[in-house]
Amino acid sequence: MDLNFSADDEAFRQEVRAFLASALAPDLAERVRLGKRLSKAETEAWQAALSARGWLAPHWPKEYGGQEWSVTQRFIWDYETSLANAPPTIAFGLKMLAPVLIKFGTEEQKRYWLPRMLNGSDWWCQGYSEPGAGSDLAAIKTTAVRDGDEYVINGQKTWTSFGQHANMIFCLVRTANTGKRQEGISFILVDMNQPGVEVRPIITLDGAHEVNEVFFTDVRTPVGNLIGEENLGWTYAKFLLTYERTGMAMVGASVSALELLKEIARTETKGGRPLAEDPYFAARVARAEIELENLKTTTLRVVDAAAAGGAPGAESSMLKVKGTEVHQEILGLMRRALGPYALPFQPGVLAPGSNAEPVGPAYAPGVTPAYLNGRKLTIYGGSNEVQRNIITKAILRL
Ligand SMILES: Cc1cc2nc3c(=O)[nH]c(=O)nc-3n(C[C@H](O)[C@H](O)[C@H](O)COP(=O)(O)OP(=O)(O)OC[C@H]3O[C@@H](n4cnc5c(N)ncnc54)[C@H](O)[C@@H]3O)c2cc1C
Repeated sequence: MDLNFSADDEAFRQEVRAFLASALAPDLAERVRLGKRLSKAETEAWQAALSARGWLAPHWPKEYGGQEWSVTQRFIWDYETSLANAPPTIAFGLKMLAPVLIKFGTEEQKRYWLPRMLNGSDWWCQGYSEPGAGSDLAAIKTTAVRDGDEYVINGQKTWTSFGQHANMIFCLVRTANTGKRQEGISFILVDMNQPGVEVRPIITLDGAHEVNEVFFTDVRTPVGNLIGEENLGWTYAKFLLTYERTGMAMVGASVSALELLKEIARTETKGGRPLAEDPYFAARVARAEIELENLKTTTLRVVDAAAAGGAPGAESSMLKVKGTEVHQEILGLMRRALGPYALPFQPGVLAPGSNAEPVGPAYAPGVTPAYLNGRKLTIYGGSNEVQRNIITKAILRL
């Protein structure tokens, strides 16, 4: 195992840095760093800049507009963009649906949907979870009944991230009720801009509108929007989930957050001295940093194995558990470091495009919302308890 990057990979890193230096506006990066909210238009503009460079979907095959980057290049990209505080891209189409389409879709489906992801025509969201069907996903009840050349869909999805922005949703739907639950599920694409689709906001602890409930009442979608075969959707759904967990180690994001934590600890004081000099607090920051360094090494080991052709199956569960826990710890320390400035809720300062003056230092308003929002990390993408079950079975073989 060699954890050093090759000369080619280092050259690639410099190319990425040069691109970020020219394409990423400093004020946008600063707003991302401070946890301010971005508008849909800002996210789309950043995605358009990446698309113009050919780097919006670099993991895709070249024939569909990708770059076929190696796993090492993808790691470097994720790391460098997080460190530079670039806006995140929306993963649902580019990183989740696209691999499913590329592996299981018809040529017609690929030629139609993939270019629309690259040119920003579609904003995708994920319709997997339902009330009563989260960890136990096979319990979904939303039905799709064939009617001529269409399916008619009825039911409810929940926790649908960014569903308020989306015009398209990929859904798991029940198409049969016989046999094993997993054998009656299909994977289908649905246009959200039609009567019978209702999106209702769920406001999260941090006051943000990020997730939604989506209701379907006699909603229609052409049979051509079925991916693969009817009732085999479970296979495609599981394939997608391995992609959803990829990148959940959040190494770059945690390195960036740790930098902010250290800045806060250098600035805020306790007993007249910088908090960074308080032995108890400094020890906690050091422990988080050591955990993060360990996580980075483990991630590089998995990347090295994957670069050599190994599949990062259950290891992605391990990275998800550790990565989300380390990130939550850093967010928690930031909130503690702020002291009384952690208390005021300042949504006006965080709103897209706002120049409102914060109460306290510029870094204050984003910290508690980020801490509260970060509670989701150990729940979504498969809860950490469920990931531990996977590790127990697949790695420890217990
Ligand atoms: C912010 C956010 C965004 C999300 N975005 C989306 C999205 O865009 N699209 C989408 O489809 N879904 C989304 N989800 C849903 C997410 O996938 C589910 O919340 C997750 O799968 C957990 O399901 P649940 O909420 O129903 O909890 P439950 O499954 O009811 O779990 C409740 C608790 O029981 C534990 N538990 C459950 N089963 C087991 C078990 N077998 N062993 C041990 N412990 C267990 C869990 O770990 C958890 O602590 C999102 C969730 C959040 C919080």
